[in-house]
Amino acid sequence: MLNSLKFTNNFVNGLAGDPSLEVKPRQVYEAFYSRVSPRVCTSPQLVAWSSETAKLLGLGEQGGAIHEPEKKDYANLLSGSALLSGMRPFAMCYGGHQFGQWAGQLGDGRAIGLGEINNANQPWALQLKGAGLTPYSRTADGLAVLRSSVREFLCSEAMHHLGIPTTRALSLVLTGDPVVRDMFYDGHPKAEPGAVVCRVSKAFIRFGSFELFSSRGDEVRLKELVEFTIQNFYPKLDANYVGTDKYLQFYIEVVKRTAALIATWQGVGFVHGVMNTDNMSILGETIDYGPYGWLEPYELAWTPNTTDAEGRRYAYANQPAIGMWNLSRLGTALLPLIEDKSVLQSALDTYKDEYSERWRVLLVAKLGFVEFQDTDEALIDELFELLQLEETDMTLFFRSLSGIKSKQKILSMEQWPELMQAAFYQLEKLESNVVQRWTRWLQSYAVRVSKLSDKARAEQMDAVNPLYVCRNYLAQKAIDSAEQGDFTGVETFLDVLKRPYTEQKNRQAYAERRPEWARSRAGCSMLSCSS
Ligand code: AMP
Ligand code: MG
Repeated sequence: MLNSLKFTNNFVNGLAGDPSLEVKPRQVYEAFYSRVSPRVCTSPQLVAWSSETAKLLGLGEQGGAIHEPEKKDYANLLSGSALLSGMRPFAMCYGGHQFGQWAGQLGDGRAIGLGEINNANQPWALQLKGAGLTPYSRTADGLAVLRSSVREFLCSEAMHHLGIPTTRALSLVLTGDPVVRDMFYDGHPKAEPGAVVCRVSKAFIRFGSFELFSSRGDEVRLKELVEFTIQNFYPKLDANYVGTDKYLQFYIEVVKRTAALIATWQGVGFVHGVMNTDNMSILGETIDYGPYGWLEPYELAWTPNTTDAEGRRYAYANQPAIGMWNLSRLGTALLPLIEDKSVLQSALDTYKDEYSERWRVLLVAKLGFVEFQDTDEALIDELFELLQLEETDMTLFFRSLSGIKSKQKILSMEQWPELMQAAFYQLEKLESNVVQRWTRWLQSYAVRVSKLSDKARAEQMDAVNPLYVCRNYLAQKAIDSAEQGDFTGVETFLDVLKRPYTEQKNRQAYAERRPEWARSRAGCSMLSCSS
């Protein structure tokens, strides 16, 4: 089966490559990628598989499942250890703004594209993360460790099942080769198991891909990349617009998609952690799962990324504004093609309205309203103020609201929904004025939601307020067992995350607030970029 698999080379054939095959770190000009060879691993072993992503690609048996005898071949292919004939692996060349500063050329330092697989007339690009050195590896090794690979594998799929645009993950392969990492950059390097994740998307082109050519004044390549992107991934624009107008419409579409994407992040409490422009997909998908995290206690200034602990540039509440800042960088990069600064500015300005509208629609759904009323503003302001008073689990809290009956009398804490009580990290320590404010709020809420039947409202709300998210501590538990060679934890967690909006039997342990032991444990509440 694997031998008959056909890879196409749309990206490589459609755009100019770097003539040099030299792997050493260097500046690459006038090229969109460099040809590279993934490294051969000592003993590749397939340890996790997403049958949904396999189905998307037309791989595996019916339902995307993989059979035992095929695992070896897949492990070789998806670790980069064996190539199929016709494959032309490559690393992309791009730049980016990192933490607000132009960083120049970056590129795929540890990602290697394998080309595309066609299924149902849709080409899907496959990319291996952690498959070895490229000319863009700079001073690093091009490899990835198991812990960060499990995190990327699980969260990519979790996001998809939440309904959030994202790159997908097909597989997780252990390489059999140790990788040395200094997890906290504190002089304690340690050998960890090496792994490779195979990511899947229509494209892995980033804002920084356009920025690099623009920064170098290479308008020819800039235009080629924009044309390639529009033709392949925005075909409707290609059919309906020409010239500068087409480029402007393209930018407007990216603005819209990015606003929509970030609204969905805010809705489920996802914090990306490193929203540099090289980590922003031109398709408006979530890309590059590094030190990401999920809000557990609702805290606006929270970031999972220890590297960002001081500035908190990429904290939860900053994400919408950072999305706009990143789009302004993309706009500047596209200026040579669009020419008119003021139309670009107007296009960028639509971000705020687009984001607000998306967020409003999402809130209406999350709160179980039919539509906004003028009086809702006060109710919502009070809600978000209350959420910040004491540590309140965002996921459990929103999920609990569907348990409130219309016009229900709520006069004391005992009448709060059980799940809402479970959302408080220290329920017994809540001060009486806080309890009173919450009780009053719930009472007003119960009056407000009398338009829909309780059943219809609960259905609407449970379809947008997940019960299960990829909580850091749960991912860490799966990682702990994986590091001992047991991957059933990864498999079970993935299975839970496939139905985030449906209560699942015997899976209560996946819908609980972060336990105390996880409060300060590495990987559970904070992460570094070291991966
Ligand atoms: P990130 O913050 O993970 O998006 O990475 C920023 C840049 O560093 C990208 O160009 C990555 O390809 C590169 N990079 C990160 N980790 C490694 C690594 N272990 N080896 C080589 N390059 C890396
Ligand atoms: Mg990146």
